[in-house]
Amino acid sequence: MNLHFDESVTVNYKSNSQKIRVMSEFWALKNLFCPCCGDIHIEKIQNNFPVGDIFCKNCGEIFELKSKKNSTGAKILDGAYHTMIERITSNTNPQLLVMNYSKNLSVTNLIFIPKFFFTPAIIERRKPLSKNARRAGWIGCNILYKKIPEQGKINIIREGEEFKSDEVTSQYLRIKKLQIDNVRLRGWMLDVLNCINDIKSEIFTLKEIYKYAEFLKSRHFYNHNVEAKIRQQLQFLRARGFIEFIGRGMYKKIF
Ligand SMILES: [Zn+2]
Repeated sequence: MNLHFDESVTVNYKSNSQKIRVMSEFWALKNLFCPCCGDIHIEKIQNNFPVGDIFCKNCGEIFELKSKKNSTGAKILDGAYHTMIERITSNTNPQLLVMNYSKNLSVTNLIFIPKFFFTPAIIERRKPLSKNARRAGWIGCNILYKKIPEQGKINIIREGEEFKSDEVTSQYLRIKKLQIDNVRLRGWMLDVLNCINDIKSEIFTLKEIYKYAEFLKSRHFYNHNVEAKIRQQLQFLRARGFIEFIGRGMYKKIF
C-alpha cells in the first residue's frame, strides 16, 4: 500500500473537508482490500445510493469511510440522527472504516468496525441546527467511538504499520461469531463485554461483573433480573470462545 493521499484528485474541490473526503475515498479505492472477504478491490457506490461510500463486489458488504486528522478521539461526527437509528435497528447500517491521517496527508491508522457492533446507545443525538442555518432544524449525530468495545475495532493500519489482509479477515471472522441481529440483545452483550474489558486483570469473577449490575440496569431499565441476564451474556461469550470458565465462579479472558 502507498499510504500517501493523492492530492491531484482535489483540483475541483474548494473546502478542506471535501478535499479530505475525496482524497481518503480515492486512497481506499486504490489501495484497500475488503476487510470482510479479503478481495483485493473495493469499489465506489453510485452517488445517489443512500448508505455508505464504497462496497465490495465479491461479498456485497458496504462501507462508510470516516476520516479525522491525527486521532479519532471520543466521537465521530456522522449524518442524520433518525436515519442512523433506523438503519441500526433494521440492520441496514454500513460497516465502518475509521481513518486517521497525518498533517503531511498520509494514512496513519485505519480501523474497521463491523456493523454488528453498533447499537442506538452509541449514537448521540446532536442539537438541531439553528433557525438561521441552511438546513434549520436538521438533527445530526455523533458515533460514541470510545464506547465501542475494543473487540469491535479491527486494525488494518496502526501507526503506519499495515496488517495483512488474511490477518484482518481472520479477525473479522472471529468477531463475526458475536453477531446478534436482535438489537436489544446485542446491546446487552456489548455492554457486558465493555464491563469485562473494564476489569484490568485477565481473570475475573462473576462477583466482579455483578458490581456493574446497577450500571447495566440503568441502561436496560425494562429488565428486572439483571444478574440472570449477565450470566446469559457470559454463557454466550464463553460459547463463542471469548472467555473461558475456569471454575469457582472465575473466568479467563481469551484475546
Ligand atoms: Zn468483500
